[in-house]
Amino acid sequence: MNWLRREDLEDQELRTLHRHAAQSRSATRRREEPHDPLRTAFQRDRDRIIHSPAFRRLQHKTQVVAAYEGDHYRSRMTHSLEVSQMARAAAQALGLNMDLTEAIALAHDLGHPPFGHVGEEALHELMQEHGGFRHNAQGVRIVDRIEDPYETGFGLNLTDATRRAMLKGRIPDGFPLADDLSPENRRPTPLEAALVDRCDKIAYICHDLDDGIRAGAFGEPDAARLALWQRAREQRPDAGRRATISLITSLLMKDLVATTAKALAEHPDAPRIRQSDALVVESEELFALLRERFYRSRRVLVVMERGQERIRRAYEHFVSYPEELSDRARRRLDADGVERTACDHVAGMTDRYLLRVVEGIDAGTA
Ligand code: MG
Repeated sequence: MNWLRREDLEDQELRTLHRHAAQSRSATRRREEPHDPLRTAFQRDRDRIIHSPAFRRLQHKTQVVAAYEGDHYRSRMTHSLEVSQMARAAAQALGLNMDLTEAIALAHDLGHPPFGHVGEEALHELMQEHGGFRHNAQGVRIVDRIEDPYETGFGLNLTDATRRAMLKGRIPDGFPLADDLSPENRRPTPLEAALVDRCDKIAYICHDLDDGIRAGAFGEPDAARLALWQRAREQRPDAGRRATISLITSLLMKDLVATTAKALAEHPDAPRIRQSDALVVESEELFALLRERFYRSRRVLVVMERGQERIRRAYEHFVSYPEELSDRARRRLDADGVERTACDHVAGMTDRYLLRVVEGIDAGTA
């Protein structure tokens, strides 16, 4: 029996993908390396991400409810998996590159510190004088520098398409990135990046609707007032909670694919990923409910504020006692400086590991 070689997969991409899709045959890396006989460049990116310790740690990092509070809440890991499968399906429907889409989706939250966005704010404040902190920039730093299984100094050496896609959004002034990603050298991001971005939003508003009800932040009667909920119930009046949320997810995904396909056909030279105006408004309504009743609820904020204090405590401890950093982190001290190395070290921790470290610090200095 014949087997499919990498070149065959690349040919398939050339024949079948949309003209604005990324082609793995044209992928470039900072450090050139021999091709793989079986996998395309983007498939290798995906595999390197999945095999990295930074990816495994996402299972114990907070999405909204602290990762150790219950077995059924989403963690960054399950969130990333949900985004990945949704984005892959949409990429397939639109003729975009599924493997690149998957790699971007699995990597998109790698740079999140413990305790979600409040963790990010705490580190950004602490690093004010040293280039700041933001999760997207940190994600690139992890794959470019911190994860370095082959000790080449090029990290996971992912393709430039994946790295550029991970960098979307604001970057603090002075944040240390590889030269090719500096603002003057920055090239446009692939369309697959914008697709993952949309799917990220659809994934979290839908799963946070589920987790918010599960956590008792609001009830089903509150959710039933949402236009999206009513739309889903029109389709299936007898749907229970989980079926309704699953219908909402499908509604948003079908709308994303149909609206984008239409936009690509009408404006072939200005490709954009789009949702219909009506569903943008209805998604905003759901997001507003989540922000008021869930993200800013006492229950969530109390745990997060405590997490924030612990991040400060750990960071200050490692800046004062860099000899207590891990061996690998200590090797970066000379090049990166004590503040950035301590920040990387704390940002890489899972929620529960940070708690353990701070307990140790407090016990040692009590
Ligand atoms: Mg995300």
